[in-house]
Formats: sequence, C-alpha cells, structure tokens
Amino acid sequence: MTYAADKSRFEDMKYFRVGKSGLKLPAVSLGLWHNFGGNDRLENGRAMIHRAFDLGITHFDLANNYGPPPGSAEETFGKVLKQDMAAYRDQMIISTKAGYYMWEGPYGDWGSRKYLVSSLDQSLKRMDLEYVDIFYHHRPDPETPLEETMAALDHIVRSGKALYVGLSNYSAEQTAQASAILKQLGTPCLIHQPSYSMFNRWIEDGLQDVLDQEGIGSIVFSPLAGGLLTNRYLDGIPSDSRAGGPSVFLNSNNITEEKLAKVRALNEIAQGRGQSLAQMALAWVLRGGRVTSALIGASRVEQIDDNVAVLSRLDFSDDELQAIENILA
Ligand code: NDP
Repeated sequence: MTYAADKSRFEDMKYFRVGKSGLKLPAVSLGLWHNFGGNDRLENGRAMIHRAFDLGITHFDLANNYGPPPGSAEETFGKVLKQDMAAYRDQMIISTKAGYYMWEGPYGDWGSRKYLVSSLDQSLKRMDLEYVDIFYHHRPDPETPLEETMAALDHIVRSGKALYVGLSNYSAEQTAQASAILKQLGTPCLIHQPSYSMFNRWIEDGLQDVLDQEGIGSIVFSPLAGGLLTNRYLDGIPSDSRAGGPSVFLNSNNITEEKLAKVRALNEIAQGRGQSLAQMALAWVLRGGRVTSALIGASRVEQIDDNVAVLSRLDFSDDELQAIENILA
C-alpha cells in the first residue's frame, strides 16, 4: 500500500516559533528513542510515523545511538522515509544527535570535532539523507574544550550537513557559555533539548531564563516521565509497558506507591478537565508559552492520537495549576 499523507494534517496542529529563529515546530513532536529499533516491529514503527505525520507532527527526533541496537532507529526512519515519505522531506524537520557512546576507541563518544563530524556522517548514511534539519550535541563533555565542540557544530552547518544546531542536557551555565561561542561563530544555537515534566522541573531553576535571554527555543523530552504521567501504571505494571520491559530508564523501582498516589490525584484533575492524564501532562509542560514543543515517545498509534488531542485543551485555570502544585509539593 502506498502512503499518502492526510490532506488535513496541518489544520489542527499548532506550530510554535523556535526561540528567535525563522523555524516553527509542532506543539507535539515524536521521538524515536524507544520502539523504533531493529529489535522492534518495523510495521508498528512505520504506522506510528505515518500517523504522527497525518496529525501534523512534522518533527521527528533521533540520535545516533537510538535502537537497540544503536543506530537502528535511524535505519528504521530512513527506510520509512525512503519507501513512503520521500515526497514530504521538505515538510519535515528531522533531528539527530551525537554525544553518548557509539563506537569503540577514543573517537566514538563525548564531544570532539572528530566524533561529531564522523558520527553525523554515519547518521546521514543510515537515514539515507543529505542533511538533517537539526544536529545536537547530546550532552556536555567535561574534557573537550567547549570552543572545539561549538566550532564542530558551526562547521557542520557550514558544510551543509545540518541546517541548525542544538544542545541537549547542558546546564544553564554551560548553555550560556556555548551560546556565546556559537553566536560569535555566526551559527546561533537554535534549540535546547532538556528533560522536563511535572515530576522533573530542573529547567525552571535557571535554564529557562538563559534560553529566554539568548532567544533559544526548547523541546522538552520525557514530558510523560516515560509513561508514568499517563494511565499506564494506574493498575499495576503491564508486561508490554516500558517499566514491564528491560528498560533501565523506567522500572518497577521508579513506580513507588508515593509516586502512584500523586499520579492518581493528578489523574482526577485531568478527568475534571475532560482530558487524559497524558494530555494534561503535555498541556502542563506547554503552559505559559516557554516551551516550544513537547517531545513524546510512543509504543502504539493510539498513544499518538491521545497525545495530539491535547491541542483541544491547552489552557489551565489558576485553581487547576494550584491544585497540581499542591499534589507535586
Ligand atoms: P515520554 O515521557 O513521552 O514517554 C513515552 C512513553 O509513555 C511511551 O513509550 C509509552 O510507554 C507511554 N505513553 C505515551 N503516550 C501515552 C498515552 N497517551 N497513554 C499511555 N501511555 C503513553 O517520552 P520518552 O521518555 O519516550 O522520550 C521521548 C523522546 O525524547 C525520545 O524518543 C527521544 O527522542 C527524546 N529523548 C531525549 C533524550 C536526550 O538526552 N536528549 C533522553 C530521552 C529521550 P509504553 O512504551 O509503556 O507504552
């Protein structure tokens, strides 16, 4: 069956400007960290990518190491793009990253120019692309001079292999320093990709101020806390869930009774708003307009439908926000 994108795909999605740039991103973006690897079902991944795009999700987020095995999420995405969606390349924002361990020896990790340029070349091959839209340094490197890493990002843009660059997991201070270097080089930092959710609010403590000052956008990862801020774990740990699998990022140790009590209380507020808990968690990270896009993961098409439906109710009353604060306190 050949894929033809839904003609109404841009009608309901909201697109927000990324910092002080010319680019806009959808309020909800799709990440391919889990469930798109070589060990996952290709047809499920394909269906999720199609559905996301049909709903106006123009942005797909990858990294060199997504899988498992590492690199295979880029291969999956490249396959789907080439087989079904090549005609839509100019309607998509595709990102990838380097910064975590990818290959053996001294050049397959962290932040040297050698690693970043080689890794992006490998990513482009795996996705069969000439360029990515956004290339990120995935995490700060305490040993490589920041000037070298930023010069590598600048070089990557000038060589045409990426249109924009971003930073991920940099602290407020590191972001301010990196941004100053990038501005001087003439390749401003487009976007920052930090973690952020109702259970993880570190960016409120300085990073968001730096992003505002520097005109940098933000796309926040794990806004559903990996699935905890959904109805997934309300009645135990399903065997087909992230926590029910081998993930080291979410397991039964993270799903304590204390957490679940908060999740249940939050779920009641969501129900009062006529929303799923996942939708309320996404609306919450987008509240106040400081976050450009909520970067979700999904294991099935229905979750993407549920999450994008957040757009019908993004606003909060002061009472609702206060009730949420009381639960999180
Ligand atoms: P989320 O917090 O959105 O968690 C996604 C998981 O939540 C899904 O796999 C699914 O779990 C569950 N879920 C999603 N929607 C629903 C729903 N409507 N109802 C019930 N359950 C739902 O984000 P991730 O942790 O997956 O991260 C998202 C993306 O962020 C990644 O793909 C990646 O692109 C990026 N990322 C970046 C990092 C970085 O260092 N820069 C680090 C981590 C992520 P289940 O599988 O159990 O069904």
